[in-house]
Amino acid sequence: MKELKGISASPGIAVGRAFLFSGDDEPAIPRYLINSAQVAGEWGRLETAVAFASAEVTKLRDRTATEMGEEQSKIFDAHIMMLNDPDLLDQIAARLKADLVNVEWIVHEVTRELVEKLGESKDEYLSERALDIRDVAKRLLNALLLRERRSLSGMEPGSILVAHDLLPSDAISLDRTKVVGIAMDVGGKTSHTAILARSFGIPAVLGLGEITRLAHDGEVIIADGFHGAVVIDPDPATAERYADTGKRLAGLQAELREASSLPSETTDGVSVVLNANIESPEEVESVLGYGAAGIGLYRSEFLFLKPGSLASEEMQFEAYRRVLVAMGDRPVTIRTLDVGGDKLIPDVTGGAEKNPLLGWRAIRFCLSRTEVFKTQLRALMRASAFGNLKIMFPMIACVEELDDALAILAEVKAELSATGISYRDDVPVGIMIEVPSAAMSADILARKSAFFSIGTNDLIQYTLAVDRGNEKTAYLYQPFHPGILRLVKLTIEGAHASGIPVAMCGELAGEPYATVVLLGLGLDEFSMTSSSLPVIRRVVRGVSMDDAKGFARLVLNMESYREIEPFVKHWMDEHFDIARFED
Ligand code: PEP
Ligand code: MG
Repeated sequence: MKELKGISASPGIAVGRAFLFSGDDEPAIPRYLINSAQVAGEWGRLETAVAFASAEVTKLRDRTATEMGEEQSKIFDAHIMMLNDPDLLDQIAARLKADLVNVEWIVHEVTRELVEKLGESKDEYLSERALDIRDVAKRLLNALLLRERRSLSGMEPGSILVAHDLLPSDAISLDRTKVVGIAMDVGGKTSHTAILARSFGIPAVLGLGEITRLAHDGEVIIADGFHGAVVIDPDPATAERYADTGKRLAGLQAELREASSLPSETTDGVSVVLNANIESPEEVESVLGYGAAGIGLYRSEFLFLKPGSLASEEMQFEAYRRVLVAMGDRPVTIRTLDVGGDKLIPDVTGGAEKNPLLGWRAIRFCLSRTEVFKTQLRALMRASAFGNLKIMFPMIACVEELDDALAILAEVKAELSATGISYRDDVPVGIMIEVPSAAMSADILARKSAFFSIGTNDLIQYTLAVDRGNEKTAYLYQPFHPGILRLVKLTIEGAHASGIPVAMCGELAGEPYATVVLLGLGLDEFSMTSSSLPVIRRVVRGVSMDDAKGFARLVLNMESYREIEPFVKHWMDEHFDIARFED
């Protein structure tokens, strides 16, 4: 038995068998010469691999069609066609005979040349197909090199995914019927893998350092997402202790959920909006089950991070419409594309940057790839006719970016009007406050925004200059730093001076220890992973606005997070016994 400590990234206790995943690295392609008598054998290997890869994609297509709709699954039809494309296969056959080299090398060369040719094309459609070819080539090479067992699709039910790191695109593709827990060497509480794990309700422990070295495939593992601990090969007494804790906490969660339909208002009758964050349309059912007032953040980029290329206008329209219709009158805030940083789309967001988190991300990407931005805005405006949509721009750093984004939206509306396509003209457009410069100029930005939503995950990262996903500097990632609390206060004051509401959709909004301080600072809306809604509702319903304001004043007078954090936690535990729900 071995015990490791990491960062608790998604609550819950999971027991399962380790599935070691080595990530999305390019496989090393062997190259060796063959003689002409071996050509037929190599061709046979290719045929087997094509059949295997096609069957794999077919399964993926069927699953996507069931879970996300026909439109989303079309990309996989295209992949099946590419795998069986006679021109491609002819080229491989010809090169195999002419070069007398092993077939995986030929596949690698032929597809690489094709990707290069397509990538250079001025035609946007063709250049985007390069990504599909890469995807298909990788799958085919994996099949040829017998790497298929290591692909996530090979996971058995009851698996604990053990990985060094996980790309958001891998995380969004996880089969929730098979993975019961996640344990990773790297990553922090607000990394996107952690956020997705919480959305999926999968317990996760990140930042474990060397879990991939210590755990073996198939070994029993306990992932304790409440305390950030992992036990490899537990002895019977330890396994029993964890099972008891898991049952007790699940009981408490059920008790909290019973209050889902009670109004979220303070003891003196101030109503507080409690919304949910989602990453994909299929989460809406759970959002409604938890009694959310609306969706405060739909991270639309996860549509783009699914295998395949840039989401088409139709595919986006369908996804947005589906969420809006399911939510009825409830507001749905859809954030425009926030790619770049740690959410890369190969061949689209470009190669590695020296400082990706300070680089070509979010609104910066959209303002320079206006065709991508306009496609999304068109899909959003068309979908607006089906519900209560709000649009939100991410990572605004200055008023110029907001002006430019609004101008592009106006162009899109004019184009839709000219073609007689209907949309709602009164869709509120707001911005995320995630960059310190935006918080400090909140009063200016508020004059041109319908609402603000504070993205604390990035605001803390950029204010304290600490990578949100790096476990080595996680100690400095401090929401209760006086600098952060002051920026939140400044944002709220700037917004309220112009009469606009302020939401928070970073992870801090779902942290029960922070709820009273945030209420006291004047926050109007909280948006979080839906499973956090019950405990936050309980806190809101147990405090008066006067007490919250007094508490926030006390906290704002303190000088360091070392002083503030224990003070807040002690006060909150005394009044709400938060520890009972987390421990
Ligand atoms: C944030 O930064 O707080 C936020 C909500 O956006 P994301 O986590 O997607 O960067
Ligand atoms: Mg952010």
